[in-house]
Amino acid sequence: MFDRASVVTPGGVNSPVRAFRAVGGTPRFMVSGTGPYLTDADGRKYVDLVCSWGPMILGHSHPEVIAAVQEAVSRGTSFGTPGEGEVALAEEIVARIEPVEQVRLVSSGTEATMSAIRLARGFTGRSKVVKFAGCYHGHVDALLAAAGSGLATFGLPDTPGVTGATARDTVVLPYNDLDAVRAAFAAHPGEIACVITEASPGNMGVVPPADGFNAGLKELCAADGALYISDEVMTGFRTSKAGWYGVDGVSPDLMTFGKVMGGGFPAAAFGGRADVMAHLAPVGPVYQAGTLSGNPVATAAGLAQLRLLDDAAYAKIDAVSAELRSLVGDAFTKEGVAHTVSSASNMFSVFFTDEPVRNYDDAKKQEAFRFTAFFHSMLEQGVYLPPSAFESWFVSTAHDERAVERIAAALPAAARAASEATA
Ligand code: PLP
Repeated sequence: MFDRASVVTPGGVNSPVRAFRAVGGTPRFMVSGTGPYLTDADGRKYVDLVCSWGPMILGHSHPEVIAAVQEAVSRGTSFGTPGEGEVALAEEIVARIEPVEQVRLVSSGTEATMSAIRLARGFTGRSKVVKFAGCYHGHVDALLAAAGSGLATFGLPDTPGVTGATARDTVVLPYNDLDAVRAAFAAHPGEIACVITEASPGNMGVVPPADGFNAGLKELCAADGALYISDEVMTGFRTSKAGWYGVDGVSPDLMTFGKVMGGGFPAAAFGGRADVMAHLAPVGPVYQAGTLSGNPVATAAGLAQLRLLDDAAYAKIDAVSAELRSLVGDAFTKEGVAHTVSSASNMFSVFFTDEPVRNYDDAKKQEAFRFTAFFHSMLEQGVYLPPSAFESWFVSTAHDERAVERIAAALPAAARAASEATA
Protein backbone atom coordinates (compact mmCIF):
# COMPACT_ATOMS: atom_id res chain seq x y z
CA MET A 1 0.00 0.00 0.00
CA PHE A 2 2.83 2.38 0.85
CA ASP A 3 4.47 1.67 -2.52
CA ARG A 4 1.16 2.37 -4.24
CA ALA A 5 0.68 5.57 -2.23
CA SER A 6 4.21 6.76 -2.98
CA VAL A 7 3.48 6.68 -6.72
CA VAL A 8 0.48 8.99 -6.55
CA THR A 9 1.14 11.08 -3.43
CA PRO A 10 4.39 12.86 -2.43
CA GLY A 11 6.12 10.66 0.13
CA GLY A 12 3.07 8.39 0.18
CA VAL A 13 1.30 10.46 2.82
CA ASN A 14 -1.14 13.34 3.16
CA SER A 15 0.62 14.84 6.18
CA PRO A 16 4.42 14.55 6.45
CA VAL A 17 4.83 13.14 9.98
CA ARG A 18 2.83 10.06 8.98
CA ALA A 19 5.67 8.96 6.68
CA PHE A 20 7.85 7.73 9.62
CA ARG A 21 10.83 9.67 8.26
CA ALA A 22 11.92 10.69 11.77
CA VAL A 23 12.07 7.08 12.94
CA GLY A 24 12.57 5.17 9.68
CA GLY A 25 10.64 2.15 8.50
CA THR A 26 7.33 1.81 6.70
CA PRO A 27 4.22 3.56 7.99
CA ARG A 28 1.38 1.29 9.05
CA PHE A 29 -1.83 1.62 7.05
CA MET A 30 -4.73 1.41 9.46
CA VAL A 31 -8.02 -0.10 8.43
CA SER A 32 -10.11 0.12 11.59
CA GLY A 33 -10.17 1.43 15.13
CA THR A 34 -12.14 0.32 18.18
CA GLY A 35 -11.75 1.81 21.65
CA PRO A 36 -8.01 2.12 22.40
CA TYR A 37 -6.99 -0.14 19.50
CA LEU A 38 -6.08 0.28 15.84
CA THR A 39 -5.85 -2.59 13.34
CA ASP A 40 -3.53 -2.34 10.34
CA ALA A 41 -3.87 -3.71 6.82
CA ASP A 42 -1.86 -6.81 7.80
CA GLY A 43 -4.30 -7.56 10.62
CA ARG A 44 -1.98 -6.46 13.46
CA LYS A 45 -3.58 -4.77 16.44
CA TYR A 46 -2.00 -1.87 18.31
CA VAL A 47 -2.78 0.05 21.47
CA ASP A 48 -3.07 3.56 20.07
CA LEU A 49 -1.23 6.36 21.89
CA VAL A 50 -1.70 8.86 19.06
CA CYS A 51 -5.50 8.99 18.97
CA SER A 52 -5.41 10.62 15.52
CA TRP A 53 -3.09 13.29 17.02
CA GLY A 54 -5.67 14.24 19.63
CA PRO A 55 -9.22 14.08 18.30
CA MET A 56 -10.12 10.53 19.40
CA ILE A 57 -10.41 11.39 23.09
CA LEU A 58 -13.22 8.86 23.59
CA GLY A 59 -11.31 6.15 21.71
CA HIS A 60 -12.17 4.89 18.24
CA SER A 61 -15.71 4.18 17.02
CA HIS A 62 -17.42 5.40 20.17
CA PRO A 63 -20.98 4.10 19.72
CA GLU A 64 -22.70 7.38 20.61
CA VAL A 65 -20.51 9.41 18.26
CA ILE A 66 -21.01 6.89 15.46
CA ALA A 67 -24.79 6.98 16.05
CA ALA A 68 -24.82 10.80 15.88
CA VAL A 69 -22.85 10.68 12.64
CA GLN A 70 -25.15 8.09 11.11
CA GLU A 71 -28.21 10.09 12.08
CA ALA A 72 -26.72 13.26 10.56
CA VAL A 73 -25.62 11.48 7.36
CA SER A 74 -29.09 10.06 6.90
CA ARG A 75 -30.37 13.65 6.50
CA GLY A 76 -27.74 14.67 3.93
CA THR A 77 -24.07 15.60 4.04
CA SER A 78 -23.79 19.32 3.21
CA PHE A 79 -26.30 22.06 2.53
CA GLY A 80 -24.24 25.24 2.18
CA THR A 81 -26.77 27.04 4.39
CA PRO A 82 -26.93 27.68 8.13
CA GLY A 83 -28.06 24.67 10.18
CA GLU A 84 -28.96 23.87 13.76
CA GLY A 85 -25.99 21.55 14.37
CA GLU A 86 -23.46 24.33 13.93
CA VAL A 87 -25.40 26.60 16.29
CA ALA A 88 -25.51 23.86 18.94
CA LEU A 89 -21.77 23.23 18.61
CA ALA A 90 -21.01 26.96 18.86
CA GLU A 91 -23.28 27.20 21.95
CA GLU A 92 -21.43 24.28 23.57
CA ILE A 93 -18.04 25.97 22.96
CA VAL A 94 -19.25 29.36 24.23
CA ALA A 95 -20.79 27.71 27.33
CA ARG A 96 -17.56 25.89 28.16
CA ILE A 97 -15.02 28.65 27.62
CA GLU A 98 -15.77 32.00 29.21
CA PRO A 99 -13.49 34.20 27.08
CA VAL A 100 -15.21 32.91 23.92
CA GLU A 101 -18.21 35.20 23.44
CA GLN A 102 -18.55 34.37 19.74
CA VAL A 103 -17.08 31.65 17.60
CA ARG A 104 -16.72 30.98 13.86
CA LEU A 105 -16.46 27.39 12.63
CA VAL A 106 -13.90 26.32 10.03
CA SER A 107 -12.56 22.96 8.81
CA SER A 108 -8.99 22.68 10.13
CA GLY A 109 -6.75 24.05 12.85
CA THR A 110 -4.65 25.70 10.15
CA GLU A 111 -7.67 27.64 8.91
CA ALA A 112 -8.48 28.63 12.49
CA THR A 113 -5.05 30.13 13.25
CA MET A 114 -4.76 31.70 9.77
CA SER A 115 -8.14 33.38 10.21
CA ALA A 116 -7.44 34.49 13.79
CA ILE A 117 -4.25 36.19 12.64
CA ARG A 118 -6.00 37.90 9.74
CA LEU A 119 -8.67 39.10 12.15
CA ALA A 120 -6.05 40.36 14.62
CA ARG A 121 -4.34 42.29 11.83
CA GLY A 122 -7.64 43.67 10.58
CA PHE A 123 -8.76 44.65 14.07
CA THR A 124 -5.51 46.35 15.12
CA GLY A 125 -4.46 47.71 11.72
CA ARG A 126 -0.96 46.35 12.45
CA SER A 127 1.06 43.75 10.58
CA LYS A 128 3.57 41.98 12.83
CA VAL A 129 2.90 38.64 14.48
CA VAL A 130 4.92 37.26 17.38
CA LYS A 131 5.24 33.48 17.68
CA PHE A 132 7.48 31.15 19.65
CA ALA A 133 10.09 28.74 18.32
CA GLY A 134 8.81 25.17 18.57
CA CYS A 135 5.13 26.19 18.62
CA TYR A 136 3.26 24.79 15.63
CA HIS A 137 0.08 26.50 14.51
CA GLY A 138 -0.60 24.59 11.29
CA HIS A 139 0.94 25.30 7.89
CA VAL A 140 -0.04 28.97 7.75
CA ASP A 141 2.62 30.86 5.73
CA ALA A 142 3.24 33.48 8.39
CA LEU A 143 3.53 30.85 11.13
CA LEU A 144 5.90 28.38 9.50
CA ALA A 145 9.00 30.06 10.86
CA ALA A 146 10.69 27.88 13.50
CA ALA A 147 7.63 25.69 13.95
CA GLY A 148 7.73 22.36 15.76
CA SER A 149 5.74 19.22 14.92
CA GLY A 150 6.73 17.68 11.54
CA LEU A 151 9.13 20.57 11.00
CA ALA A 152 11.00 19.67 14.18
CA THR A 153 12.28 16.56 12.47
CA PHE A 154 12.11 17.65 8.86
CA GLY A 155 14.68 20.42 9.10
CA LEU A 156 12.60 22.91 7.14
CA PRO A 157 12.92 25.96 9.38
CA ASP A 158 11.94 28.31 6.57
CA THR A 159 10.03 26.32 4.02
CA PRO A 160 10.43 27.31 0.36
CA GLY A 161 7.21 28.87 -0.89
CA VAL A 162 6.89 31.34 1.97
CA THR A 163 7.98 34.75 0.72
CA GLY A 164 10.49 36.97 2.45
CA ALA A 165 7.80 39.62 2.83
CA THR A 166 5.58 37.22 4.76
CA ALA A 167 8.42 35.98 6.97
CA ARG A 168 9.53 39.56 7.71
CA ASP A 169 6.29 40.25 9.55
CA THR A 170 6.78 37.23 11.82
CA VAL A 171 8.89 37.71 14.93
CA VAL A 172 10.06 34.37 16.36
CA LEU A 173 11.04 34.32 20.03
CA PRO A 174 12.26 31.63 22.44
CA TYR A 175 9.40 30.01 24.37
CA ASN A 176 8.96 30.74 28.08
CA ASP A 177 11.01 33.94 27.84
CA LEU A 178 8.99 37.02 28.82
CA ASP A 179 12.06 39.27 28.60
CA ALA A 180 12.32 38.42 24.91
CA VAL A 181 8.65 39.38 24.46
CA ARG A 182 9.23 42.66 26.33
CA ALA A 183 12.20 43.40 24.07
CA ALA A 184 10.12 42.66 20.93
CA PHE A 185 7.41 45.12 22.01
CA ALA A 186 10.10 47.71 22.76
CA ALA A 187 11.68 47.17 19.33
CA HIS A 188 8.36 47.35 17.44
CA PRO A 189 6.09 49.70 19.40
CA GLY A 190 2.58 49.89 17.93
CA GLU A 191 3.45 47.41 15.14
CA ILE A 192 2.59 44.05 16.69
CA ALA A 193 -0.92 42.86 15.83
CA CYS A 194 -0.82 39.78 18.03
CA VAL A 195 1.17 37.30 20.01
CA ILE A 196 0.13 33.73 19.21
CA THR A 197 1.17 30.86 21.42
CA GLU A 198 0.16 27.26 21.96
CA ALA A 199 -1.78 27.44 25.22
CA SER A 200 0.55 24.72 26.46
CA PRO A 201 2.87 23.50 23.71
CA GLY A 202 2.72 19.91 22.49
CA ASN A 203 4.50 20.26 19.17
CA MET A 204 8.11 20.31 20.44
CA GLY A 205 7.19 17.47 22.75
CA VAL A 206 5.20 18.61 25.77
CA VAL A 207 6.69 21.81 27.24
CA PRO A 208 4.25 23.51 29.60
CA PRO A 209 4.29 27.27 30.11
CA ALA A 210 6.31 28.42 33.12
CA ASP A 211 4.25 29.89 35.98
CA GLY A 212 3.03 33.32 34.93
CA PHE A 213 4.18 33.04 31.29
CA ASN A 214 0.71 33.14 29.69
CA ALA A 215 -0.46 35.81 32.16
CA GLY A 216 2.63 37.84 31.28
CA LEU A 217 1.88 37.56 27.56
CA LYS A 218 -1.63 38.81 28.14
CA GLU A 219 -0.38 41.76 30.18
CA LEU A 220 2.28 42.76 27.65
CA CYS A 221 -0.21 42.51 24.78
CA ALA A 222 -2.81 44.59 26.62
CA ALA A 223 -0.23 47.28 27.46
CA ASP A 224 0.73 47.65 23.78
CA GLY A 225 -2.74 47.26 22.24
CA ALA A 226 -1.86 43.90 20.61
CA LEU A 227 -4.13 40.85 20.80
CA TYR A 228 -3.20 37.73 22.77
CA ILE A 229 -4.14 34.61 20.78
CA SER A 230 -4.13 31.28 22.57
CA ASP A 231 -3.93 28.33 20.17
CA GLU A 232 -5.93 25.55 21.81
CA VAL A 233 -6.18 23.33 18.73
CA MET A 234 -4.38 20.60 20.66
CA THR A 235 -5.22 21.44 24.29
CA GLY A 236 -8.84 22.53 23.70
CA PHE A 237 -11.41 20.21 25.31
CA ARG A 238 -8.52 17.83 26.12
CA THR A 239 -6.57 19.23 29.04
CA SER A 240 -9.85 19.99 30.87
CA LYS A 241 -13.50 20.64 30.07
CA ALA A 242 -12.44 24.19 29.13
CA GLY A 243 -9.05 23.18 27.71
CA TRP A 244 -5.92 24.94 28.93
CA TYR A 245 -8.01 28.00 29.81
CA GLY A 246 -9.66 25.73 32.38
CA VAL A 247 -6.19 25.01 33.80
CA ASP A 248 -4.56 28.46 33.96
CA GLY A 249 -7.57 30.80 33.79
CA VAL A 250 -5.78 33.40 31.63
CA SER A 251 -8.32 35.06 29.28
CA PRO A 252 -7.08 35.43 25.70
CA ASP A 253 -8.54 37.95 23.22
CA LEU A 254 -8.86 35.20 20.61
CA MET A 255 -8.62 31.41 20.79
CA THR A 256 -8.35 28.65 18.21
CA PHE A 257 -9.71 25.11 18.43
CA GLY A 258 -9.71 21.91 16.36
CA LYS A 259 -9.03 18.21 16.92
CA VAL A 260 -11.32 17.12 19.84
CA MET A 261 -14.17 19.48 18.86
CA GLY A 262 -14.54 17.67 15.49
CA GLY A 263 -15.02 14.19 16.93
CA GLY A 264 -12.72 12.79 14.21
CA PHE A 265 -14.17 14.96 11.42
CA PRO A 266 -12.77 18.17 9.92
CA ALA A 267 -14.19 20.80 12.25
CA ALA A 268 -12.25 23.60 13.90
CA ALA A 269 -13.00 27.10 15.17
CA PHE A 270 -11.71 30.46 16.25
CA GLY A 271 -13.45 32.76 18.66
CA GLY A 272 -13.12 35.22 21.50
CA ARG A 273 -14.08 38.80 22.34
CA ALA A 274 -17.35 39.80 20.67
CA ASP A 275 -16.00 43.26 19.76
CA VAL A 276 -13.10 41.64 17.92
CA MET A 277 -15.25 38.97 16.24
CA ALA A 278 -17.57 41.77 15.06
CA HIS A 279 -14.84 42.73 12.59
CA LEU A 280 -15.50 39.54 10.61
CA ALA A 281 -17.61 39.48 7.44
CA PRO A 282 -20.56 39.78 7.00
CA VAL A 283 -20.75 42.11 10.04
CA GLY A 284 -17.33 43.68 9.57
CA PRO A 285 -14.72 44.12 6.85
CA VAL A 286 -12.37 41.15 7.53
CA TYR A 287 -13.22 38.44 5.00
CA GLN A 288 -13.29 34.78 5.99
CA ALA A 289 -15.41 31.94 4.58
CA GLY A 290 -15.66 28.20 3.85
CA THR A 291 -17.80 25.92 1.64
CA LEU A 292 -17.82 23.15 4.26
CA SER A 293 -17.58 25.33 7.40
CA GLY A 294 -20.06 24.11 10.01
CA ASN A 295 -20.65 20.91 8.03
CA PRO A 296 -23.66 19.05 9.50
CA VAL A 297 -21.90 15.67 9.83
CA ALA A 298 -18.76 17.13 11.38
CA THR A 299 -20.71 19.28 13.81
CA ALA A 300 -22.89 16.32 14.84
CA ALA A 301 -19.76 14.26 15.58
CA GLY A 302 -18.13 17.11 17.50
CA LEU A 303 -21.22 17.88 19.52
CA ALA A 304 -21.79 14.22 20.43
CA GLN A 305 -18.16 13.94 21.54
CA LEU A 306 -18.18 17.15 23.60
CA ARG A 307 -21.43 16.18 25.34
CA LEU A 308 -19.81 12.94 26.49
CA LEU A 309 -16.78 14.78 27.88
CA ASP A 310 -17.95 15.43 31.42
CA ASP A 311 -15.91 15.70 34.64
CA ALA A 312 -15.81 11.91 35.00
CA ALA A 313 -14.37 11.53 31.49
CA TYR A 314 -11.54 13.99 32.22
CA ALA A 315 -10.85 12.32 35.59
CA LYS A 316 -10.47 9.02 33.76
CA ILE A 317 -8.14 10.41 31.07
CA ASP A 318 -6.03 12.17 33.72
CA ALA A 319 -5.74 8.94 35.74
CA VAL A 320 -4.70 6.82 32.73
CA SER A 321 -2.17 9.46 31.73
CA ALA A 322 -0.69 9.53 35.26
CA GLU A 323 -0.45 5.73 35.35
CA LEU A 324 1.30 5.60 31.98
CA ARG A 325 3.70 8.40 32.88
CA SER A 326 4.75 6.52 35.96
CA LEU A 327 5.15 3.20 34.10
CA VAL A 328 7.19 4.84 31.34
CA GLY A 329 9.41 6.72 33.81
CA ASP A 330 10.03 3.56 35.87
CA ALA A 331 10.97 1.54 32.77
CA PHE A 332 13.61 4.09 31.72
CA THR A 333 14.92 4.47 35.27
CA LYS A 334 15.38 0.70 35.54
CA GLU A 335 17.46 0.71 32.36
CA GLY A 336 19.46 3.77 33.42
CA VAL A 337 18.21 5.87 30.48
CA ALA A 338 18.49 9.64 31.07
CA HIS A 339 14.95 10.92 30.53
CA THR A 340 12.29 13.42 31.57
CA VAL A 341 8.61 12.56 31.36
CA SER A 342 7.14 15.97 30.65
CA SER A 343 3.42 16.55 31.13
CA ALA A 344 0.75 19.22 30.93
CA SER A 345 -2.49 17.92 32.38
CA ASN A 346 -3.08 14.58 30.55
CA MET A 347 -0.77 15.37 27.60
CA PHE A 348 2.75 14.00 27.98
CA SER A 349 5.92 13.04 26.15
CA VAL A 350 9.40 11.78 26.95
CA PHE A 351 12.59 13.78 26.45
CA PHE A 352 15.76 11.71 26.37
CA THR A 353 17.66 14.05 28.67
CA ASP A 354 17.61 14.71 32.40
CA GLU A 355 18.18 18.44 31.89
CA PRO A 356 15.13 20.71 32.24
CA VAL A 357 13.26 21.37 28.97
CA ARG A 358 11.75 24.86 28.88
CA ASN A 359 11.93 25.66 25.17
CA TYR A 360 12.67 24.30 21.71
CA ASP A 361 16.47 24.63 22.03
CA ASP A 362 16.37 22.53 25.22
CA ALA A 363 14.09 19.98 23.50
CA LYS A 364 16.48 19.62 20.58
CA LYS A 365 19.34 18.74 22.93
CA GLN A 366 17.73 15.38 23.79
CA GLU A 367 19.17 12.11 22.50
CA ALA A 368 16.39 11.65 19.94
CA PHE A 369 18.11 8.54 18.49
CA ARG A 370 17.01 6.68 21.62
CA PHE A 371 13.40 7.43 20.74
CA THR A 372 13.83 5.68 17.37
CA ALA A 373 14.87 2.43 19.04
CA PHE A 374 12.14 2.79 21.68
CA PHE A 375 9.47 3.55 19.07
CA HIS A 376 10.25 0.50 16.90
CA SER A 377 10.36 -1.86 19.85
CA MET A 378 6.98 -0.59 21.05
CA LEU A 379 5.57 -0.86 17.53
CA GLU A 380 6.77 -4.45 17.13
CA GLN A 381 5.11 -5.24 20.46
CA GLY A 382 1.81 -3.71 19.37
CA VAL A 383 1.92 -0.19 20.82
CA TYR A 384 1.48 2.70 18.38
CA LEU A 385 3.37 5.83 19.51
CA PRO A 386 3.70 9.11 17.63
CA PRO A 387 6.51 8.51 15.13
CA SER A 388 8.67 11.39 16.40
CA ALA A 389 10.36 12.35 19.66
CA PHE A 390 8.85 15.85 19.34
CA GLU A 391 5.16 15.00 19.64
CA SER A 392 2.73 14.63 22.51
CA TRP A 393 1.31 11.21 23.35
CA PHE A 394 -2.47 11.08 23.66
CA VAL A 395 -4.75 8.84 25.70
CA SER A 396 -8.53 8.42 25.72
CA THR A 397 -11.36 7.37 28.01
CA ALA A 398 -11.20 3.99 26.24
CA HIS A 399 -7.69 3.19 27.52
CA ASP A 400 -8.72 0.57 30.08
CA GLU A 401 -6.63 -1.69 32.33
CA ARG A 402 -6.11 -4.25 29.54
CA ALA A 403 -4.71 -1.62 27.21
CA VAL A 404 -2.47 -0.26 29.96
CA GLU A 405 -1.25 -3.81 30.75
CA ARG A 406 -0.28 -4.29 27.11
CA ILE A 407 1.73 -1.08 27.21
CA ALA A 408 3.31 -2.04 30.54
CA ALA A 409 4.34 -5.42 29.11
CA ALA A 410 6.03 -3.78 26.12
CA LEU A 411 7.96 -1.14 28.09
CA PRO A 412 10.89 -3.15 29.58
CA ALA A 413 12.20 -4.37 26.22
CA ALA A 414 11.60 -0.98 24.59
CA ALA A 415 13.43 0.85 27.40
CA ARG A 416 16.30 -1.63 27.01
CA ALA A 417 16.36 -0.90 23.26
CA ALA A 418 16.54 2.83 24.06
CA SER A 419 19.41 2.26 26.49
CA GLU A 420 21.38 0.19 23.96
CA ALA A 421 20.77 2.60 21.05
CA THR A 422 23.71 4.47 19.57
CA ALA A 423 23.65 7.76 17.71
N1 PLP B 1 -2.37 24.44 16.16
C1 PLP B 1 -1.86 23.45 16.92
C2 PLP B 1 -1.48 23.74 18.32
C3 PLP B 1 -1.74 22.16 16.41
O1 PLP B 1 -1.24 21.19 17.18
C4 PLP B 1 -2.14 21.93 15.07
C5 PLP B 1 -2.01 20.58 14.47
O2 PLP B 1 -1.40 19.69 14.99
C6 PLP B 1 -2.65 22.98 14.31
C7 PLP B 1 -2.76 24.23 14.88
C8 PLP B 1 -3.10 22.77 12.89
O3 PLP B 1 -4.25 22.01 12.86
P1 PLP B 1 -4.65 21.19 11.52
O4 PLP B 1 -3.65 20.09 11.40
O5 PLP B 1 -6.04 20.73 11.81
O6 PLP B 1 -4.58 22.15 10.39
